[in-house]
Amino acid sequence: MTRPAGLAPEMTEMVIQTLRQVAQRELPDAKVLELDEQDVFPHDLIRKLLSPDVGLHLVFIPEYAGGLGGGARDICKVSEEMAAVDLGVATAFLAICLGTDPIMVGGTEEQKQEWLPKIAAGLIVAYGVTEPEAGSNVAALKTTADRITDADGNITGYRLNGAKQWITNGGVSDLFTILAKTPDGPTFFIVEKDTPGLSAGKKEEKHGIRASNTASVIMEDVEVPVANLVGGVEGEGLKQANAVFGYTRLMVGAFGLGCGQNAIDRALRYSKERIQFGAPLIEKEGFLLKLMVPNWLDLTAGRAYGDEVALRIDQGETAMQVEGAVAKLWSTEAGNRAADAAVQALGGYGYSREYMVEKIRRDVRITSIYEGTSEIQQNIIGVFRWKKTVSSKGAFYEEMAAACDAAHAENDQCGGKIIAAALRGLNDVVLDAHKSKAIRHQIAQFELADTICRCEVGSALVRKAVRMSAECPDKAAVCSAAARAFARQAMESVLEVAHRITAGFAEPGDEEATGHSREMIQQIKERLPAGAMNGLWADMAVVGEHLKQLD
Ligand SMILES: Cc1cc2nc3c(=O)[nH]c(=O)nc-3n(C[C@H](O)[C@H](O)[C@H](O)COP(=O)(O)OP(=O)(O)OC[C@H]3O[C@@H](n4cnc5c(N)ncnc54)[C@H](O)[C@@H]3O)c2cc1C
Repeated sequence: MTRPAGLAPEMTEMVIQTLRQVAQRELPDAKVLELDEQDVFPHDLIRKLLSPDVGLHLVFIPEYAGGLGGGARDICKVSEEMAAVDLGVATAFLAICLGTDPIMVGGTEEQKQEWLPKIAAGLIVAYGVTEPEAGSNVAALKTTADRITDADGNITGYRLNGAKQWITNGGVSDLFTILAKTPDGPTFFIVEKDTPGLSAGKKEEKHGIRASNTASVIMEDVEVPVANLVGGVEGEGLKQANAVFGYTRLMVGAFGLGCGQNAIDRALRYSKERIQFGAPLIEKEGFLLKLMVPNWLDLTAGRAYGDEVALRIDQGETAMQVEGAVAKLWSTEAGNRAADAAVQALGGYGYSREYMVEKIRRDVRITSIYEGTSEIQQNIIGVFRWKKTVSSKGAFYEEMAAACDAAHAENDQCGGKIIAAALRGLNDVVLDAHKSKAIRHQIAQFELADTICRCEVGSALVRKAVRMSAECPDKAAVCSAAARAFARQAMESVLEVAHRITAGFAEPGDEEATGHSREMIQQIKERLPAGAMNGLWADMAVVGEHLKQLD
């Protein structure tokens, strides 16, 4: 799969500015709350966003098909920005992108030439994969695509039967890409909305993202020509779906960041004005260091990681499924925590529908469910990093640790040594859990996945802090403090998971296991420079002071 390298930075900025202008004009807070309250899909608005005047979707369509040819970094920026306006509207766009992807990655040249310009011209697209009994396990799909043959036995088309569930844009789409089982395996088909036998079920009544349309899609003897089989060969569907996960999961990660940042920004503004016990809330140390700083930090770290992964995709790397999973798991969970903290920060007002944080809290919940749930991401991360660590005999994380040592050599204030020690500790834990077979427990993989996220995301934040310190000396102190604080939390997470996995699967009273757990934790700690774990709260306070200064 070749992806465009992306837009020139000025062009990306222009797209973002256009989006902000449209959002200010068409989606002020009152309108966003009204769409949520009335539970309506803003058809006219979406058509406007797809019109030649705005053409937001053109970012992900290649230039030869009339698009702008944006790369992963551009799409992530646009996704974060859109999610900060309204995640329901952003989700409608995600579905157009997702629905187009099977054609982009697996379509024949003729299919790309035919369909991509039509999508660029403003079609609403839906991606039909999930079924009532095939959610996380897509391979369990039941929708069938039977061959239609002529008198000579040549395949002329396919007859689709089945039902798709939870399809974004399902009731409003012009075009569907539907995954169905052919005799040679799951295959994507392009299906136009007026095809006889295709219908949408009733719109789902949802907890959040109520401005997006979600519906089931029913197919009863839906006939499509053979030319609509994506890629022209049966059985390529799951491969095509997997090929885009590194990329689409990054987009959903960006949604988490956009929602979480919007919520925290609102809570920060509120806390500067809300007086309790004679002073603004933001002046209360516990309020700032519990509700604001850790969430701001987690979002900033998620953005640093997402930027690195997007750049690697734009540079042509393709096997990015695990990185996509890390980006999605970390940033969507961070977005959820941030929105939850924002509700708390507004107290009773945060619980009221009148304030936007209540809506953001409901909206962002979907990001850890769709495009693969958090547990599916934990599974992918846990299993693939386990296998990589074992097959590379620890070299995978050792290389990452060495890169953090190099970052420390460039700037010794950015936590590089701490995160390097955390990554080496991770190696110890994974290799030990492999030896003891504890890692075969799914819960061990899940727990490791969370720590892996902290360590890998933390190493991206360290590198970003080193760059920022060189490029923006006025921000050096806060960037370094943020990276150090995050690195210490990554190390704490490694020490905790080491205990939970070594001792957690041992019998109570098993002294050998207790001793082994202690030894491992000691070995991990010894790689740290003396006193390196001191100073977490001072660094958090530096970040807190920075947040107080923001507009
Ligand atoms: C608003 C919305 C929009 C959506 N849009 C689309 C769309 O446009 N196109 C589309 O195709 N789909 C779409 N989906 C479907 C979505 O991707 C699925 O809901 C999701 O993948 C989870 O599948 P499921 O709902 O069947 O849950 P299940 O797979 O049944 O999962 C239920 C729970 O079990 C856990 N679980 C599942 N398997 C495992 C396992 N092996 N180990 C441990 N835990 C496990 C899950 O993490 C989850 O917590 C949408 C869903 C929603 C709610």
